Amino acid sequence: MDALAKLAREVRRMLGERLTWLIIALTVAGAVWFSLNGAGRTASDAFIVNAAQNSAFLGAFLFTLFSLTQFHRDFKNNTDIIILTSTDPIHHQLRRTLALICVAIVTTLLISLFALPFGIAKTGDYFQAVTFMTAWFMIFFGALVFAVLLSAGFYMLTKRVEAAFLIMAGLILLSKLLENMFALNPSYLFYWVQTTADSFSDLITNQFQIDMIIWNRLFCLLVSLGIWALGLSSFRRYGRGLPGSFLVNCRRAWIPVLLVAAIFLSGFSYAYEPIFDDSKPMDFSGMLSSGTGIATSVSSAPEVGNPNLTLTGKSFTLDIDGKGRALSGTAKYKLENATSEAQTLPVKINTDLKIDSVLINGAKSRAVRGETGESSTANWSIELPSAAEYKIELDYSGRIENDNTILQRASNGISEGYVELPSNGVSPSFDINVSDDSVFSGTISLDKNLEPVFAEGKAEKGKTIDGKVEWRYTGSAGVQGTSIFAAEYMTRTFEAGGLNIELKYFKKHDKSITDMDAVSVIKAAIDYFTETYGPLIYSKSLTMLELPAYVSGGFAGGNMSAMDETSYDAEGFLPAESLSPDSGGGLDVLVHEIAHQWWGLATIPMQDGTSNWSAEGITCYSTYCFMKQYVGEEYANEHYLKKWQQGWDTYQNAFYIQHPEYLAKLSAGDVSRITGSFTDMQLYNIMPLMLLKGEQSLGGTETFQKKLSELYMTHLGQPVTYDDFLAATGLTKEVIELA
Ligand SMILES: [Zn+2]
Repeated sequence: MDALAKLAREVRRMLGERLTWLIIALTVAGAVWFSLNGAGRTASDAFIVNAAQNSAFLGAFLFTLFSLTQFHRDFKNNTDIIILTSTDPIHHQLRRTLALICVAIVTTLLISLFALPFGIAKTGDYFQAVTFMTAWFMIFFGALVFAVLLSAGFYMLTKRVEAAFLIMAGLILLSKLLENMFALNPSYLFYWVQTTADSFSDLITNQFQIDMIIWNRLFCLLVSLGIWALGLSSFRRYGRGLPGSFLVNCRRAWIPVLLVAAIFLSGFSYAYEPIFDDSKPMDFSGMLSSGTGIATSVSSAPEVGNPNLTLTGKSFTLDIDGKGRALSGTAKYKLENATSEAQTLPVKINTDLKIDSVLINGAKSRAVRGETGESSTANWSIELPSAAEYKIELDYSGRIENDNTILQRASNGISEGYVELPSNGVSPSFDINVSDDSVFSGTISLDKNLEPVFAEGKAEKGKTIDGKVEWRYTGSAGVQGTSIFAAEYMTRTFEAGGLNIELKYFKKHDKSITDMDAVSVIKAAIDYFTETYGPLIYSKSLTMLELPAYVSGGFAGGNMSAMDETSYDAEGFLPAESLSPDSGGGLDVLVHEIAHQWWGLATIPMQDGTSNWSAEGITCYSTYCFMKQYVGEEYANEHYLKKWQQGWDTYQNAFYIQHPEYLAKLSAGDVSRITGSFTDMQLYNIMPLMLLKGEQSLGGTETFQKKLSELYMTHLGQPVTYDDFLAATGLTKEVIELA
């Protein structure tokens, strides 16, 4: 009987057992339940990815039990000697492992019969076949295969079913616990059951996330194969101990070869994973926390690496290759040297880009790579000969890597449907002075379906060559870099708050933007807040850009305000009870994020750790004021006042608020989780109620808002403390304290 026929017989035997079908039935039932009860920020997450991740845990657990039962049974029934003398023991273990994987395939296909039509029906226009396959065939099915290989490996290795079970239970638990180990910054490769898949976009490609899942699955497969091969090579032979069995087993060359190759390649795939770099952790000591999901940096004149040099002009040509996932470019610079002596030129560029050639005043030179700095910046240096002026030309090329230090999320990169390049990934910048009239321009060649948007500057569409469009870019004077976003965007242009606003959103969101009447809402909100508090700090124009969901939040800088796609969803996909004003979707979130332009970006209300003051309270209050006059009092009461009151009631009744002494008895992790949820209530519910109280004591909304306007106008670009707020309004802590 040939090997295949024997395997087929083993699979048939397994599928003929009741236990097998019980395991399959439980796994399928779990998958159906998780699909029906999914949650997430996007439709893809809520109805596909999240269900596959939860099912992966259940599946990994059930297939561990199943594998251990199968491997342990012969031993338990004392039939192992009979079986193993009548058949090749190594082939027997191999067949059994493969048969278990076949059962995993059957299970995954059965689940697909439900999950595929369910996913299509629920996500509708947002359905992406690649997302479905990634979720169920890579995340879920991958977890089953690893559970089989690891369980078999640990069983053969320890020969103890309890020990193998405990190890597996620990490994499954560990994969879940990693999600809370922020401080350790665990590699995304270690999440072997569920992966770090999160916030899949409904609107554009999730290629950057899928890259991570592919590498995760590759690494986990190699490690699992290694453990399995180790188990196989130590599989006990009749009458021999571990070393003797090992030697006999390793007489078959493929076993030690597989073992060594799996160990070597898993180490290799860990060390050379291509998505994250070796950036240094950011120094947050100079940063301000406004407590929002939106990043704010307060700019001050930074010290430059070489103050003797001044940039007077820069231009670049950049070719972005979506299919090859890489870029290449040439940048030309004009420099002045204050001393005319030889200088060292500090160059900053993305960690995975290389400077291929250097020309200084027409002569060849070279750039030397130094240490990696913060935020995916590699430091290079070029030695300049003595001269008063330089013309420098750099050729550079490569792929884009992401910062490894914060939560291992990939948002920068190049793919066929989406490009996001940080400033240091567009062109090398010099760490020197930039003259105020320095001109910055460039040409970007991009796949013709994509449109580029810049954090700084603008581009015009040029000619099309070989399916690629050339965009002519012009930046502002005195600037030497810009980040680039490129996707299939649609644009709506309108005027609000004295600004020309370009709303750039993903093509797939057109219906949602129309349905929620986003343009009218944005216009009304910007007009209202401008009139109430004062103008925004942008000059003339503002680009509002939609980002993919996996960016989770937004930012403002240059003439751009960016928010992720969940803000533009007509409906949020998160279950209502966990909705926070900064996540989910719909009108309320959109207006909340717009209000943050005034409170959080143009001014920076500061969290101080003792009061409830932060950007959130005043943003929630402002959103409520707008909604009251835009939608109506009833809506505002239902969506704001009632929720704030509920938060305040929960807070007051909370056991740990009434008995803070018990907090001391809890572990540090539990304390931070409990205080975290209280902090949310303090910032999002209690502070807005306190502001309402202040409004009453000052005699009405209008008077109060006039004071807030003064606070806003006198603190543009600056932090706003609780004391600043009290001083500007003339309120006291006692007056607005809730009873
Ligand atoms: Zn907020």
